Parts: sequence; structure tokens; C-alpha cells
Amino acid sequence: MFNPEIESLPLEKLRRLQSERLSQLAAYVYDRVPFYRGTFDQLGLKPSTILNISDISKLPITYKNDLRDHYPFGLLAVPQEEIRRIHASSGTTGKPTVVAYTAGDLEIFAEVNARSLYAGGARPGMKIHNAYGYGLFTGGLGIHAGAEKLGLAVVPVSGGMTDRQLMLLQDFQPEVICCTPSYAQTLAEEVKKRGIGKKALNLKFGVLGAEPWTETIREDVEAGLGIVATNIYGLSEIIGPGVSQEDHEEKGSGSYIWEDHFFPEILDPETKEPLPEGADGVLVITTLTKKGMPLLRYWTNDICNLSYDKSSKRTHVKMSSIKGRADDMLIIRGVNLFPTQVEVLIRDIPELEPHYLLVVSKKGALDRVDVRVEVKSTAMELSQLEGLRTHLMQKIRNNIGLHMDVELVPRDSIPRSEGGKLSRILDLRREA
Ligand code: ADP
Repeated sequence: MFNPEIESLPLEKLRRLQSERLSQLAAYVYDRVPFYRGTFDQLGLKPSTILNISDISKLPITYKNDLRDHYPFGLLAVPQEEIRRIHASSGTTGKPTVVAYTAGDLEIFAEVNARSLYAGGARPGMKIHNAYGYGLFTGGLGIHAGAEKLGLAVVPVSGGMTDRQLMLLQDFQPEVICCTPSYAQTLAEEVKKRGIGKKALNLKFGVLGAEPWTETIREDVEAGLGIVATNIYGLSEIIGPGVSQEDHEEKGSGSYIWEDHFFPEILDPETKEPLPEGADGVLVITTLTKKGMPLLRYWTNDICNLSYDKSSKRTHVKMSSIKGRADDMLIIRGVNLFPTQVEVLIRDIPELEPHYLLVVSKKGALDRVDVRVEVKSTAMELSQLEGLRTHLMQKIRNNIGLHMDVELVPRDSIPRSEGGKLSRILDLRREA
């Protein structure tokens, strides 16, 4: 572990630490952030009544819109002179979401990423190829600081320019790579296509995140790049990458949330009531230690569940993989649908590639979704192709309960990640 004392702090002590931090935080934001003072007053809530971590459910929930309404610096809890960095998330429409860090916040950012990289297999003295985007996006600089703190040599290559990435991977021989899983897929495909061969690379670990991914992609990129691939999760509002991370020796059992800094809850998407361990709901996080722009009970919109695993190395809670953003959830004829649900079905059919798009359109008054997916080889009898198509359609109907048309397309006809996050949804409704 990077920080064994904290990462394996006995639960009682962890709760005590969280309680102290939460009670300080309530007083801190009440004194310093007019928005929070207003919501506390509206609820008739006195910060002095927040004494224990279990009091968290008394606190107001913060939504992305609250950040937008206070664009750009309205939620700062410190004078602007104390801010040392500003990031912003892309935001597909309108103004981006702005976040600001004090020097202390940047320390925390480095700490949680050092812990994460260590859990992902990185060790001091290794080199890391950091293909997360550098810039306003938190990914690049977040991983960068964590890697330096852990004692790695960082190659700050950023996203894109695949030719150059492949050259540097061969020439510099880094052991660790960080990027989005979809970009790791692109790199793995190119390694194969160009006959580079895994032997020409020295990669051992991939720390991948910033978008939902599945076991199919994990298997693909592990085989293609010769790595053990683990999941890193985060969002700019909370800090950026490094909110949670999977351990490379406990793959598939969830990602540790660094609970001493980020307190998680799972809430029912409709009633907003807390849900028990193991139940799927919206992940809501309170930043217990940030000073520049702390957030109470931030509604991430990401759907997952939490679990404590007594047999694991650390005491911190694990979150499951993210099914999708509540924003990316399609509601088709009353059925909730995330792209990853279709992805796992595609995975079971060996003749198909894990490259697909969900095409959403309008037929009359009704929305519909169809699937476009690549076949490994089109050198098949027409009847075989037709068999594949109906097989996937049936699986979708049986598992998801929707009728979707399936279109098989040749390899390489579906867009690949060129460095950043990849959308698996093609929404024709907006264009119509
Ligand atoms: P933007 O909103 O511009 O995408 P962020 O980097 O803040 O900027 O995005 C954070 C979001 O990315 C999370 O709320 C989540 O939906 C998604 N995300 C990040 N890491 C993962 C991951 N490991 N698995 C699934 N989704 C992830």
C-alpha cells in the first residue's frame, strides 16, 4: 500500500476520523459558502448538530446545476488568492463545470492518485506512459502528480497521435500505462495491426478509467497490451481521477473509495433515500477534506453499489463498476438501458467484435434503439451472418426485454477512441 496506515485503518477509527472531518466541514461551509449557508438556513439546520458521520443524511444534496448556477467561482470557500489551480469538465452543452484547488487540495489530489497507482500495480522506479488528456480535463495532471509522488518517471504524452504513442511505448519501455479503456483498445488494435507484438513492449499494468467499461474490454486490452488492467474512477467535482481504484490482485471485486477524503453514499434515484449495502443506486460523495471548493453530498449521477469485503487488503469500502451515467441512461419504451448492458451480450458471441454503437431514433411517436456491431469476418455465408444477427437480437430481447434491430458491419467501420472518452450512443433524434 502507498499509505498503509490510512488504507488499512480499522473501521471504527476510520468512522471516528470521518465524523470529526464531517463536523468540521459543516461549520466550514456554513461560515464560508453563502450557497450552503442559505440551504442550511432553509432546512433549519445548525452545523453544530452535525457530530457524527451518520448525521450526513441531514445535509443538503448538491447537484451539478448548483455548480452551473454559481459559475465560475461562486462556490469557493477561500479567497481567490488561495487558489492554485482551476480545472473544468468538458460539459457537452453550455458552460463547463469549474472546480478550484488550494495548495492543500492539490496535495490530496496527488496522494489519492499515488495510492491508486500503487493499488494498480505501479511501484517506485517504474515509468508511466500517461495518455490521459492534459489540460482543463483533470485526468492528465491528476495522474501526473500521483505518479511523481509515488516515485515514477512520468511520460506526459497526453491523448491522441497514436503513431507517436506507439513509438514511445516501444522506445521508452514504460511498465505502466494510463488512459481511457477505449483508447487502450485502440492502442491494442494498432499493436496487432502493425505487427508490433507484445514483446516489443514492456507494459505490465494499465490503470484505466474516465468512462464505463466491461470485462470484455478488460480481456481485450490485457491480451493486446500484455497488461493487468485495473479500474480508476473519479470526477472533477470531487477531485478528478483517484476517487476510487481497483487493486491489481483483487480484480473484479470493485474499486476502493479513499474514504478518509471522500465519503460515499448510495441513494435511491427517485426518493433520494439511502440504500443498503449492495443495492444499486446513485453514488453521492462528500469531500471531507477539500478546502477550495468542498462539496456536500454531491450527486454524481453514476449508478453503482457499495460493499465491504472483509477478506480484502484494505478497510475502505469498494464500489462496483459504474453501469453508466444516469445521463447516458436511455429510457426506451419504459425500459432503462445502459450501453454496457448490450456490450456484455455482444461479448458472449465470439464472431462479434466489442465495437458497437447504439443508434437511437424516433419512429412515429416512439423512441427506438438499434445496434450496430462489427463482425470479426464478413467471409461467411449470408445465412450464417443472418444467424448471428438474429442470435444477438434474441439475446437482447430475452435479457433486456427490448426489440432492437441489429446491423452487422465490417471491422473498423465503427469509430474508435482517438485519445479521450468514447460515446457508444448515436442519437439521431436530435438531428431529426
Ligand atoms: P466530464 O463530465 O467532462 O466527462 P469528468 O472527468 O469529471 O468530466 O467526468 C467524470 C465522469 O466520468 C464520472 O462522473 C463518470 O460518469 C465517468 N467515469 C469516470 N471514471 C469512470 C470509471 N472508471 N468507470 C465509469 N465511469 C467513469
